Amino acid sequence: MRVTNHGDFLTQLARWPRFFPVNVYLVREEDGLTLIDTGMSGRGEFIVATAKQIDLPITRIVLTHSDPDHIGGMDELRKLLPDAEIMMTELSAKVLKGDVLIDKQGNIIEPKTRNRVTSATADKLLQPGDMVGSLRVIAAPGHKPDQVAFFDTRDNTLICGDAFQTKSGLAVAGVIRWTFPFPGLATVDKPAALDTARQLRDLEPSRIASGHGDVLEAPTDALDRALDEAARKIGGGVRNVA
Ligand SMILES: [Zn+2]
Repeated sequence: MRVTNHGDFLTQLARWPRFFPVNVYLVREEDGLTLIDTGMSGRGEFIVATAKQIDLPITRIVLTHSDPDHIGGMDELRKLLPDAEIMMTELSAKVLKGDVLIDKQGNIIEPKTRNRVTSATADKLLQPGDMVGSLRVIAAPGHKPDQVAFFDTRDNTLICGDAFQTKSGLAVAGVIRWTFPFPGLATVDKPAALDTARQLRDLEPSRIASGHGDVLEAPTDALDRALDEAARKIGGGVRNVA
């Protein structure tokens, strides 16, 4: 895992950053750290050790969405951090409990048999507009219908889950980067993803921290290019044809 700090509050922990990057983030608050996503399993102890180096406890674990690469470490982190408050959207909580499935078209369906995805459950359900410390919860459907982003109101850092990937060049979810196609291929509703991307751009983030790829500083120009590309490839964009 590669650990890097960005701005005053954000620490990125990147697994396999060059070939198959999967990120989790620690956000510093006065009373502790918020862990955003849990990555895949097997890195819980490293995450906790990184928090110890920052010298603050992890007091909250929040999820951007319920894909396996974002929730895989949940159960080991629950054991390592029994007092941390686990937060996610209601739909993410239902997926983790095995009450619903999100199919490849983004439909929310009842499974034939209910199998828990994690034994850990939500302590608190999140809704758009809620605050988690300094982070505002923003609805970010498209990649998956349960996805939310987190916007740090202190410095305008946007932690976007898979609404964008930054690996292989900033891309809106659903636009495939063939050198790292997985977030694009796993996007269930491309028009919704484009809509979300536009709304996130309008927040004028100072940096973008994605689930996959390096943190991107001062992303305005790159965002405009990515949105333009997505409008062409996904559709729904207003294009000046003059
Ligand atoms: Zn992902």
